[in-house]
Amino acid sequence: ANKNPNEPEFMQAVLEVAETVIPFIEENKKYQNKMLLERMVESDRIIIFRVVWVDDKGETQVNRGFRIQMNSAIGPYKGGIRFHPSVNLSILKFLAFEQTFKNSLTTLPMGGGKGGADFDPKGKSDNEVMHFCQAFMTELSKHIGANTDVPAGDIGVGGREIGYLFGQYKRLRNEFTGVLTGKGISFGGSLIRPEATGYGNVYFAQSMLATKGDSFSGKTVVVSGSGNVAQYAVEKATQIGGKVVTMSDSAGYIYDAAGIDSEKLAYIMQIKNELRGRISDYLIKYPKAKYIAGKRPWEIRCDIALPCATQNELNEEEAKTLIANGCVCVGEGANMPTTPEAVLVFQKAKILFSPGKASNAGGVATSGLEMSQNSLRLSWTNVEVDVKLKEIMLAIHASCVKYGSNGSGYVDYVKGANIAGFVKVADAMLAQGVV
Ligand code: NDP
Repeated sequence: ANKNPNEPEFMQAVLEVAETVIPFIEENKKYQNKMLLERMVESDRIIIFRVVWVDDKGETQVNRGFRIQMNSAIGPYKGGIRFHPSVNLSILKFLAFEQTFKNSLTTLPMGGGKGGADFDPKGKSDNEVMHFCQAFMTELSKHIGANTDVPAGDIGVGGREIGYLFGQYKRLRNEFTGVLTGKGISFGGSLIRPEATGYGNVYFAQSMLATKGDSFSGKTVVVSGSGNVAQYAVEKATQIGGKVVTMSDSAGYIYDAAGIDSEKLAYIMQIKNELRGRISDYLIKYPKAKYIAGKRPWEIRCDIALPCATQNELNEEEAKTLIANGCVCVGEGANMPTTPEAVLVFQKAKILFSPGKASNAGGVATSGLEMSQNSLRLSWTNVEVDVKLKEIMLAIHASCVKYGSNGSGYVDYVKGANIAGFVKVADAMLAQGVV
């Protein structure tokens, strides 16, 4: 804590990993005395830079940009870029640390990184977003590359932003390479990448439920968020027989007791992706639904909960409410959405609970598949990518079961994901010497 003052999110993420990995290290001689965990919590490097751009009124704006290159033991740095006013060093370090373990779990050769800026895309014109992206990439381009560091999207960075960032990289470096993932299909993107995190989260929850002989069929599902991850989690959960009754944004949530079917979801995608409106606009077309301002959806009765918005969005009280209402499965689509106290509530109740680093890894895994396609200069079909995504989610589930089973049939997916993620990175670091 002394080394990382004012970094509560980073400390939270490290503590959660340390609690499960330290006992494992103590039982395994090979990993002792090499300062492995101490090396893993120290970023390879952190780049912090000024981003200056001119808004539509001709006024100069200044933001702060970051790239955390956390760990490259098993592959080039890989992790998203977040544009949100809350972005700071602590949040990006927690995300980069988590990313290292997550990428290790995917079975693909990717190291851990994360980046972003305290820029708020809300209310900005396309032109302003483009100018910001160009200014951001002007500095970032010096530090990334297809074999060095391959950023992707995250909160506030979707297809539009990745397009502008890629265009600027190409202009500056005069090379067309797979330096970013989440690209448009016409310039090197992968089919299923937009769907991958949400779909993967549902595939993972499906695997967890299957261990109990259960499925999504006929289940009531509560989802938070209405961005990229939430939208495709809702799509897949509905396709496999679940009834999703909520979605949210930072201002509140909608509750539609009849279920958010594919037609209603298409409307939400239009509101969020094209009109860039608010989730409350759902009631314009579907007035029978309810909008609850300033609250989160965890008070709604459900069998399955999928938090897909942001970190620390589900607290202890809310976890208790979910359990009291009969929830049997919580699959994190966002990164660290559940507070440590709330995780304990789920674990004590022995319900199925998956940490984001396992259950939302489908996004980065498909980014890895995009990198493979870029290297091959080939494009795989929808079905080919979806099959690979499913296989990867199954493999991650199997790794969690391997390291997280306690013998009595209960699987601690937090412990399983942390140890499985640690082992691969630690083995690579040991083999590469003291660096
Ligand atoms: P988007 O920007 O597409 O959507 C984010 C959603 O979360 C929006 O509905 C947003 O509402 C809401 N949100 C953001 N900040 C807050 C907040 N402080 N309080 C409440 N709601 C908030 O992002 P993504 O869907 O891409 O990302 C969501 C989560 O998933 C993040 O934790 C991200 O790190 C994680 N993730 C994303 C991956 C990806 O492939 N995109 C991969 C793995 C993890 P509003 O519109 O009001 O801001």
